[in-house]
Amino acid sequence: MSAAPTLANRSCKITGCQNSTREGKPFCPDHVERHDYVQGILEILAQREAEEERVRVKGASAVDPHGLTAQELILHLSQHGSRTVERLSREFQLESQVMRDYIDALLERGLVQIGRTARGSTIVRLTG
Ligand SMILES: [Zn+2]
Repeated sequence: MSAAPTLANRSCKITGCQNSTREGKPFCPDHVERHDYVQGILEILAQREAEEERVRVKGASAVDPHGLTAQELILHLSQHGSRTVERLSREFQLESQVMRDYIDALLERGLVQIGRTARGSTIVRLTG
């Protein structure tokens, strides 16, 4: 029997973990799940960034109403009531034009309504 390492008995890539891995995977069973979870989050964040970039270029038509940013916006409005566009763009750390594009996309679908404050700011709230 050879003692040389094979694909079947690598050690886990997590620093300090002494476990060996199965089937040539880079992480042991304890860590592979955490790795998949983190990868999933990174993928969602990358999709969000890609969408924001498309919205910067193309405007409201590039907004995915089921995407993370649109869903967060709806959740945020449901928790906090009405908000001005300026405040939403600060809270979401998005340029005000990009925030306006997200709001326009939700407006087109009837998900939000807009109004004006006494000082002339655009205010957004959920429909219904
Ligand atoms: Zn491990």
